[in-house]
Amino acid sequence: MAELVDHLAELTGFRDRELLDVTLVGALRDLLRPRAVAIYRSVGEAGHERWLTRARLQAGELAARADPGWVDLESLPAHHEHPARLDAFRRQTIVQLPGPVHLTLFPVATDRESLGVMEVESDAPLDERDQRLVMSILRIYRNFQGLLDYSERDTLTGLLNRKTFDESFMKAVAEPMLPPPDGEGEDRRTAAQRCRYWMGVIDIDHFKRVNDTYGHLIGDEVLLLLARLMRASFRFDDRLYRFGGEEFVVLMRCTDAPAAALAFERLRFHVERHVFPQVGHITVSIGFTELKRGDTPSGAFERADKAVYFAKGQGRNQVRHHAELVASGHLEDDAKVGDVELF
Ligand code: GH3
Ligand code: MG
Ligand code: MG
Repeated sequence: MAELVDHLAELTGFRDRELLDVTLVGALRDLLRPRAVAIYRSVGEAGHERWLTRARLQAGELAARADPGWVDLESLPAHHEHPARLDAFRRQTIVQLPGPVHLTLFPVATDRESLGVMEVESDAPLDERDQRLVMSILRIYRNFQGLLDYSERDTLTGLLNRKTFDESFMKAVAEPMLPPPDGEGEDRRTAAQRCRYWMGVIDIDHFKRVNDTYGHLIGDEVLLLLARLMRASFRFDDRLYRFGGEEFVVLMRCTDAPAAALAFERLRFHVERHVFPQVGHITVSIGFTELKRGDTPSGAFERADKAVYFAKGQGRNQVRHHAELVASGHLEDDAKVGDVELF
């Protein structure tokens, strides 16, 4: 009993979702003593979903393994490669798969969405008491995720709020902390190294007019719909933020500047084409910049924001790359990379 309470205290002691998953598999490994326990998250677009390993811990291992947060989607196993997982995930129910290694799969969800599956590998089937224990711990996990959502997400759009930006930024410029699982690991790591990090600032054009003409409520609806277009335009592991007002920020991985420009251009185009109820068409101006070693959140933001400002001056509804504007002499390179600046 004391061991269980200790684990619950540890589980709810972190505000970092990755650590939360690592702690959860650690707790269940100690409590159930299975061969292995893992959390797999369902990621990717509808029809092309894949399994991301959030944390996996085998008997005798000291540290959990996980896929890096910014993994190449193509390298992950497809949903259909693990039918039992898929069954537990789709039906939101416990699924047992007998065999030389017995698998028990538990659905993992928050109040907002179905996240994925927890998989317990054991020599014998888990008895009812153990199953109940796992389900109870998953309920605590769910409640805690709900609290995290409440503090980290913007209530109107559901996007991340500014509070969590600095932390993700620092993680993005650092190497992934946890090694990928065995086997395909090397490929994934090389793929990850080929990627670079980018930050974009998105500002709605003439948004004041929308508010003045149609009122704040309709204005808020536009913000909500824009957030949806952002979710549809970017990849699952891109970090999408509402920084407040009508200012949105994206942190993402991309191989090079043309690929980053293409991703932002896709959003610009989706917005331009979209018909917003009552309002009709709106446009956005986007500025982006590459994150460099020693970059600060405020330094990178300032560069992207200058590119937005330039886009506004050039007629709006366009995507501008800060480094390109510097190279062409349109902007001065006064970003003080490495300086400690605060927002
Ligand atoms: P520009 O093309 O130069 O960006 O013009 P703009 O009118 O969009 O100018 P700016 O970005 O400076 O204006 C921001 C406006 O956004 C001011 C305010 O009316 C509106 N706004 C800011 N926050 C909110 C919000 O939470 N809800 C609504 N409905 N409007 C907001
Ligand atoms: Mg603005
Ligand atoms: Mg604006």
